[in-house]
Amino acid sequence: MEESLSIRAVCDPMPAPGDFLVASGARYWKIDDKLDLQGAAHFQLDIKSLARNEDKLGQAMAFGEGYLVAPEALLPLPPAENNTLLRIEFELGPELSAISALPSSPDGSYALQRRDLGEIGPFLLGRHISVEPLPGDSSLRLAMPNSGIRLERKVLFEWVSATAKSNRRFWRRSPVEKGLVILVPAPGSPAIPFGRALSVGGVSVAVLVGEKADARALYDDWVLTHELIHLGSPIMRDTGAWLNEGIATFYEPVIRARAGWKTEDDVWREWISQMPRGLRAMSDIGLSNAGRGGIYWGGAIFVLMAEIEALSASGGRMGFSDCLRLALDKGGNTTARWTSEDLISLCDAALGSPALSRLFALHVQSGSPLDLAALWRRLGVSLGSDGKIAYAQESELAWVRPLIIWGGQDRPEPISSAGFFQPD
Ligand SMILES: [Zn+2]
Repeated sequence: MEESLSIRAVCDPMPAPGDFLVASGARYWKIDDKLDLQGAAHFQLDIKSLARNEDKLGQAMAFGEGYLVAPEALLPLPPAENNTLLRIEFELGPELSAISALPSSPDGSYALQRRDLGEIGPFLLGRHISVEPLPGDSSLRLAMPNSGIRLERKVLFEWVSATAKSNRRFWRRSPVEKGLVILVPAPGSPAIPFGRALSVGGVSVAVLVGEKADARALYDDWVLTHELIHLGSPIMRDTGAWLNEGIATFYEPVIRARAGWKTEDDVWREWISQMPRGLRAMSDIGLSNAGRGGIYWGGAIFVLMAEIEALSASGGRMGFSDCLRLALDKGGNTTARWTSEDLISLCDAALGSPALSRLFALHVQSGSPLDLAALWRRLGVSLGSDGKIAYAQESELAWVRPLIIWGGQDRPEPISSAGFFQPD
């Protein structure tokens, strides 16, 4: 793959070519000192060095015959140029393609806003990249390079299809109209190291798949499920990322248990052992002040409590996941921007009870004491020192357990996949 990438950019307003460079970027770019006859600036991006030195999803990564590059990393524009409208075009050699969720104009250029750069999904650039509709889901396309991951393409397609199906079953529909799933080989890795969903200018979910991953690793992993859950909720950032991350963190093992890829015991074991990581956010500082660990597991505790509160207030008629589906029906998918309060008040209105606003008031701006051990006792679940889960049927909240784990009284049909997990 080429060591440098030629980019043509037109901006409105157009900075002088000398103003394009930002200090941190200077080492990677060569910028023509004159605009061309159409008023466009031309850059050479040393993509090989950028990918080697940064090597992360938010910047650039290299694989066998190409690169995954974040739009933010493409243009050496100072962040101050926030209202700039950009039109960029790659000058790609023969056999090279650029794939992105961002729609391109008939002339092959991409139009975007400077201020959105950080929220636009990445470009997959390189040779031998395929993009195909996902079998069984007309709302998603799957893009991946034809080499670099040891697993057969058929197995990868089945995995993404089965995971998308498990996600549709939770949302009871495709959460977005059009999305692009991008699989990128992670050299040397046997696992799924990272994923990211982005929704401005087109919905994309990029997932790194270990070069050495086997089929078991795909279904044992949480990353793709987590990212696909994000597609079904509006982005809510007014009080931080905890509500979006809490939703994805909480329902990820639930959705995989419903698909038959893990057991109910696994789900409770994960919650009982991991939720203490979110306790400080819920009890002391408040979810809106939580750091990285706190937004995921503090958010997940909030969602568990929201499920319990909603089911209790409605006599089992409606859980928090029902209210998330209601929000989705009202257009609240990942392309929408809501406040966390928008969602909470929608739930309370549907419940006819201020149950969730009450929970919000206790744990978001600041914390309130929370006794997780007492919560597990009320739910009738315990984790023994031998790692085994035990259930108490007579406990106060035993009745909400199947509603939370299975979405009803009965365990749903498992989703068979890749000849690996067959329904039993
Ligand atoms: Zn997430």
